Amino acid sequence: MSETIFALASGRGRAGVAVMRLSGPLAGSALDRLCGVRPAARMARLAPLRDPENGEVIDRALVLWFPAPASFTGEDVAELHVHGGRAIVTRLTAVLTGLGLRPAGPGEFTRRAFEAGKLDLSQAEAIADLVDAETEAQRRQALRQLDGAMGRLYEGWRDRLKVLLARLEALIDFPDEGLDDAIEGAVLEGAAVLRAEIAAHLANGRRGERLRDGFEIAITGAPNVGKSSLLNRLSASEVAIVSDIPGTTRDVIEVALDLGGYRVLLIDTAGLRETDDPIEREGVRRALARAEGADLRLQVIVPGDAPPPESPGRESILVLNKCDLGAGPAGALPVSALSGQGIDGLLAAIATRVAARLDSAEAPAITRARHRLAVEEAVASLDRALLPGFLPAELRAEDLRLALRALGRVVGAVDVEDLLDVIFFEFCIGK
Ligand code: GDP
Ligand code: ZN
Repeated sequence: MSETIFALASGRGRAGVAVMRLSGPLAGSALDRLCGVRPAARMARLAPLRDPENGEVIDRALVLWFPAPASFTGEDVAELHVHGGRAIVTRLTAVLTGLGLRPAGPGEFTRRAFEAGKLDLSQAEAIADLVDAETEAQRRQALRQLDGAMGRLYEGWRDRLKVLLARLEALIDFPDEGLDDAIEGAVLEGAAVLRAEIAAHLANGRRGERLRDGFEIAITGAPNVGKSSLLNRLSASEVAIVSDIPGTTRDVIEVALDLGGYRVLLIDTAGLRETDDPIEREGVRRALARAEGADLRLQVIVPGDAPPPESPGRESILVLNKCDLGAGPAGALPVSALSGQGIDGLLAAIATRVAARLDSAEAPAITRARHRLAVEEAVASLDRALLPGFLPAELRAEDLRLALRALGRVVGAVDVEDLLDVIFFEFCIGK
């Protein structure tokens, strides 16, 4: 029998209300001991909570009772909504521990829900994302994933793969000379269609991961063009070091912004210039690597500069900073980090680019590197299954099976035991 766990489901620290959640076989008896009565299932009830040791009232609470199996974890669950004072929470913790319950680890409620089959792994991860969501787009994406859209997509692919695999296995077990080639051909055709769909899902421009982790924008340009000043102005905070000495931005500085509901990471890079100073050179190296991987670059120039050569295939916006000092080439967006002139226009231009990349169809997107790796593996397995030329059907079947497993890992249908600790450790306690 599993242990009964409890944790503060609401935030830590002073608050109007604190919610203590209990889950496991002792949840019901703990309720009885604390409030004398057990409320009707899923109905809130106001009751004094008493210390079973001495009958002293700890607080007046709103109490909820969710008997198994119709609860979040699938176990008996109780919720105590108490006043949010620290002393109440501390006392309740002591009382619950005395009743044989133990504090929950990170994500333990959600893990129990997953293990009870209440949600698939992508939905469990969506709960963590929802708790962490800072922007509107992050919230929408997490909610969609929680709704099971991602699970349905992957399960749909898995179902189709299972059918293909079954047909290929039937052919291996019961060969029928006349039809073998036709059946194998049909299976491979089905696998090729599936592969194309999965590959398209992979090639979604990392939309889901960008929504979750942030859209990266690197600010690039020669020393002293005002990159740090621009970052400060865009983020309206004094986070980057601004100075008159060229090359003072030694480290890569990142600022997260909420831009029209999207999480955006602004990256200030060190001045890109030739230098003999080893520290500075390291800064330049890191800046280059960072700018290389960014989703969008703000290429900053100043009056008198020629426009930099186009770098094809790279998303960028040419920004003329210090427009208070003069004009620049056509096509450059004039701003002044110093006065704030043109900054609204630049923010709008960035928002347009971000939205164009991230705000596409409602189709579920890959939100985590863990999912991406599994899907890449599925595509690689399908590629092997689809190798042209003669290949024994057994080998093709094995690769279809590997693709099936890889997709199954995303939703937690197979092979995830060792992963669970890692995944749920990311959660906050009380979820
Ligand atoms: P970075 O090396 O590209 O990061 O440049 P900084 O942000 O450190 O700025 C270098 C110098 O340019 C500082 O003295 C800033 O005050 C100045 N500066 C930045 N933006 C502007 C601007 O829009 N107009 C003027 N006139 N000076 C600016
Ligand atoms: Zn700088």
